[in-house]
Amino acid sequence: MKLYNTLTRQIEEFKPVEEGKVKYYTCGPTVYHYAHIGNIRNYIGHDILHRTLEYLGYQVTRAMNITDVGHLANDSDDGEDKMMIASQREHKSAMEIADFYTKEFFKDFQKVNCKMPDLIKPATGEIDMYIKMITKLLEDGYAYQAGGNVYFDVTKVKDYYQLTNHVQDELVVGAREDVEADENKKNQADFALWFTTSKFEHQELRWDSPWGKGYPGWHIECSGISIKYLGEHLDIHGGGVDNIFPHHTNEIAQSESYLGHKWCNYWFHNEHLNDESGKMSKSNGAILTVSVLEEQGYNPLAFRFMVLNSHYRKQLLFTYDNLNQAEQTLKKLKSKIASIKDEGDLDDGSFKEYNNRFIEAISDDLNTANAISVLYELLKDEQVNGHTKLDLVNKYDKVFALNLIEEKKESENDAEIMALIEKRAEAKKNKDFDLADSIRNELLAKGIELLDTREGTTYRIINS
Ligand code: AMP
Ligand code: ZN
Repeated sequence: MKLYNTLTRQIEEFKPVEEGKVKYYTCGPTVYHYAHIGNIRNYIGHDILHRTLEYLGYQVTRAMNITDVGHLANDSDDGEDKMMIASQREHKSAMEIADFYTKEFFKDFQKVNCKMPDLIKPATGEIDMYIKMITKLLEDGYAYQAGGNVYFDVTKVKDYYQLTNHVQDELVVGAREDVEADENKKNQADFALWFTTSKFEHQELRWDSPWGKGYPGWHIECSGISIKYLGEHLDIHGGGVDNIFPHHTNEIAQSESYLGHKWCNYWFHNEHLNDESGKMSKSNGAILTVSVLEEQGYNPLAFRFMVLNSHYRKQLLFTYDNLNQAEQTLKKLKSKIASIKDEGDLDDGSFKEYNNRFIEAISDDLNTANAISVLYELLKDEQVNGHTKLDLVNKYDKVFALNLIEEKKESENDAEIMALIEKRAEAKKNKDFDLADSIRNELLAKGIELLDTREGTTYRIINS
């Protein structure tokens, strides 16, 4: 598989450290509000990568954090914790806020068929690991204490800006006009590993540490969780492009200083989803979520389809026109698939050819739009029989996850079930209750329960 690596600024052949196995970390959501559809676009990008790796036969172990402490309202080290802002807004404890928005996040995450990562770790559950890392960073001279906080000294690492390739002054957080400089720091770019003092006295979440009661910085959370659960060598680490600096830049500095060697080989970043006013964000007013789209009558998978039609490294504009179009196209695609008759034997030659073409597209830096074109070509190809087509669609859908043959299965079963219901009604009319019962039981064994209503007999699936 070819994958763009932010670290080398090149498309590279992907090679995991251990053959056949992939250790993959995704930066999780900050659970102080609903996840907007921009955040979800990012997780769809990660989901495509996760599913593609599995399609190609890799055994993937993927971890993701839940940021429930330490993510401040701006990039500097003196903003207010986002969780605290939410806590005041909603008059709830930080943990209640985290609980509520974590659940809401995963609802939307699953509505767009994102696969759950193998490990999901709330940041507040791993304090010991951050303390262990910070202790070592202090011992080894990479970190220092000032004004009650512990900071990482960026001048102690060789190539702090390796991920961004930018000139220092453009990026240094304290150098921007909208950000106040933190007087405690030796260098403007230094970042906090542990806070015991902040100008916001009401910080609710605090833990004992060798440096006083306090709380971790956001960056150390992802490094700590990743190293603890995925080990010292990571294959892929990713997030949205806004995570490149300062978050991932700081993660590399502290992780490699702690480990004493290179940490992660591939850095994977998704471009943003914008609305007409610019980048979507949680902090600017009404939040457009997948659930809101669903309430408006949209199929969440139409949003996924819209995302898949563009490349993850291109910005994408959200408009209702685009979403409507995606929904119509997906409907047509699914009904086209539903009309394919399951005829003929599996044709190995065509199967291989189309499977290879799909793999070629998706392995080309996750070119989902080209993979969708391969699907259309397959559907049009009169040389390929129905059975082979359906097998391939089913297989492609392991990556697309658009429930492409759900309708086919439903409508096909539906006809069969309706025929049996009619047969049973006929049997009852003829007082052949044994036959009627055996039909009911036969269906029940397949997880289909018959419901005799005043309007006639219907059914429901009880364990599909
Ligand atoms: P947050 O909950 O703010 O920590 O963000 C969760 C993830 O969503 C991060 O990895 C961000 O990079 C990503 N993200 C934030 N805004 C957008 C956006 N408008 N489009 C795509 N991804 C985004
Ligand atoms: Zn992170």
